[in-house]
Amino acid sequence: MHPQRFHAIQKATSFQPPKQSPSDTPDTVSEYFGRNAFGLAQMREKLPKDSYQDLIRSLDFGKKISDETANAISLVVKEWAVTKGATHFCHWFQPLTGLTAEKHDAFISIQYSYHSELRVIERFTGAQLVQGEPDASSFPNGGMRSTFEARGYTAWDPSSTLFILEDGGTKTLCIPSVFFGYHGQSLDMKTPLLRSTEALSQKACDFLKLLGDVDVKRVTCTLGVEQEYFLIDKNFVALRPDIYMTGRSLLGAKAARGQQFEDHYFGAIPSRVKAFMSDVEKELFKLGIPIKTRHNEVAPSQFELAPIFEDLNIAVDHNLLTMETLRRVARRHGLVCLLHEKPFAGVNGSGKHCNWSMANDKGENLLEPGSTPHQNLRFLAILSVVLKAVFDHADLLRTAIASAGNDHRLGANEAPPAIISVFLGDLLDNILDSIEMSRTLSASAKEIIDLGVNRIPSISKDYTDRNRTSPFAFTGNKFEFRAVGSSSNPSYPMMILNAAVTQSLIVSTKKLKGLLETSKNRNDAVLSFIRETITETKNIRFNGNGYSDEWREEAKKRGLPIAKNSVESYAFFTDKKRTQFLVDTHVLSPEEIHSHHFIFLEKYIKSLDLEARVLLDLSSTVVYPALERHTLRLFQTRDLSSLEKLGVVIKDQTKKAEGLCADLHLANRSLAEAIQKLDTLETEELKADYIAQSLIPNLEKVRNLTDQAEEVVSDDQWSLPKYREMLLSLNLA
Ligand code: ADP
Ligand code: MG
Repeated sequence: MHPQRFHAIQKATSFQPPKQSPSDTPDTVSEYFGRNAFGLAQMREKLPKDSYQDLIRSLDFGKKISDETANAISLVVKEWAVTKGATHFCHWFQPLTGLTAEKHDAFISIQYSYHSELRVIERFTGAQLVQGEPDASSFPNGGMRSTFEARGYTAWDPSSTLFILEDGGTKTLCIPSVFFGYHGQSLDMKTPLLRSTEALSQKACDFLKLLGDVDVKRVTCTLGVEQEYFLIDKNFVALRPDIYMTGRSLLGAKAARGQQFEDHYFGAIPSRVKAFMSDVEKELFKLGIPIKTRHNEVAPSQFELAPIFEDLNIAVDHNLLTMETLRRVARRHGLVCLLHEKPFAGVNGSGKHCNWSMANDKGENLLEPGSTPHQNLRFLAILSVVLKAVFDHADLLRTAIASAGNDHRLGANEAPPAIISVFLGDLLDNILDSIEMSRTLSASAKEIIDLGVNRIPSISKDYTDRNRTSPFAFTGNKFEFRAVGSSSNPSYPMMILNAAVTQSLIVSTKKLKGLLETSKNRNDAVLSFIRETITETKNIRFNGNGYSDEWREEAKKRGLPIAKNSVESYAFFTDKKRTQFLVDTHVLSPEEIHSHHFIFLEKYIKSLDLEARVLLDLSSTVVYPALERHTLRLFQTRDLSSLEKLGVVIKDQTKKAEGLCADLHLANRSLAEAIQKLDTLETEELKADYIAQSLIPNLEKVRNLTDQAEEVVSDDQWSLPKYREMLLSLNLA
């Protein structure tokens, strides 16, 4: 074995877990849960009554917080943070690329006394809480800010929870913020997300009122994010520049043992990983993040964690913090946490299932089938609204999940397909079909469904079957958007989904109003609405195997939008007809849509350009030389005329290795040319097209050859950690 790999394996398998850290947490979670978070509950407890009420009014009516209230809040927040040992504060926001960004300021402020003596005090004003220093001219803005006004502003989002982040012995108060330009245009993901939940709330109330819920004042979206990830020992990653630079392995032959035994999923968690998970959970509990489940995933070294669902905006913040925490705590455990959608070829990639629903101000889940005919009717009406949202905006929902990383996952036979469709399960489908045909339900459905008043079925909730191949599945009382990539900010797909549902609510309200005018009673009108909507949107429903070729054909026939890869789906941004709903719902402006198109394309191009350069480097400076050495060694031993049989074998091997040398050399050269060509292309669109058409096939070619090389070069000549070591060693430590 190559000494470099040998040492890495030795270090990885003799790993000693860190002394249980952080050690400041009591045994019972309830004793420290939320210790480092400051949300509404803490505000209520600490703030003077007037200030708290003013804050609530601002939140309820979306108005600006008064300076007085801001000062009162900043005072209690500073008191809390400084007592906990925080020395700095930062506005924590979600730029359009990357996940989160932060800029730190110390709490200290300098006062000069009468005799000019310098005195340092801890100071934090309402103004500092509410608005950050203008800065960040180098964040991507997709051409929205010209240089003379290259300023971005951060502002506190009072509907989020403040928190203290502990890292490397420092504590920082983080202020979740929005990020926007001088003219109020959003430069981040949170601003449009907040707009979308607000818009949805208003339109959902209008709709619910028509259903008879006249008191409803607010509808909130709920989100529970299942996060998948890989854990790899740091010693291996340090020897794999592809992994530490791009987040995924760009080469590597498959290990003989992959996931074929199907024994990893829900198998026993290795103790080293359990220690890591428990550490992660402690950190997250302190931040007030209600992590509930942990388990192994399908691929070796792949795991998942999931929280209890929360208000959507907070759940997104919490997912971003969870990703950061996974990465940070992993380092403490001698591991690297890979959040990439496809870190290893040949085994499953990672997703981020976004469980989404809506609730009214009584806390009732609007997608929960209830026990009364009214609740069931409401459930079916809301379900129809969501079906219409996905039917009408499947294209932009596809765009919302597109990324260079997710391209490896979508459409491969292990993850949701790239074609957006909705899975309801046979039973619910059967109910909808019966409503459509105005016929009584079939026997099997009848067992669970009691046809109540006015032909409205009552529906029990635990009836949905599972279909892992659907990108958007109804799972009993919520939808699960499964096609979202593991490394992405869930803000974006949730924002597009909310906007789509909002648009559908607007249209549905209009339609239902018309039906109410012409129908005998409300139930009849609502049932007609449901019937018309499910009939119109029938094509989006698909319960079959989403991985199959037949489905691709069928989807084409049904006229569903199909975009093979990110480049094709980003093109949807340029079609006004497709994006108009974002403008109509006031979630994005045309200018913002334009900039997102540009920024996402640019990010895609940069990712692939980087991958190409890293692969070329490894292939020509590590793999090729190893292959060449191996070939020459064979060549030197070839003339063993006395060893007749071995001579033939060696001759044969030499020929093969020599051929591979030549092929790899050519493939490297052609990859180098493709990279150069990419540089010369002028526009983002041209570059992206070139990547999809030309660069990616070149990358695949090189990878194919390097993987063949790995299989012939003798083990003592191969310095790059192999898949088997990286993926299967966690159980050995
Ligand atoms: P499943 O078995 O369907 O995956 P779980 O109960 O494990 O269901 O839930 C998966 C995720 O869905 C969890 O994060 C959970 O909190 C979340 N979830 C459950 N109900 C809702 C809801 N009403 N809205 C949003 N997310 C929800
Ligand atoms: Mg699930």
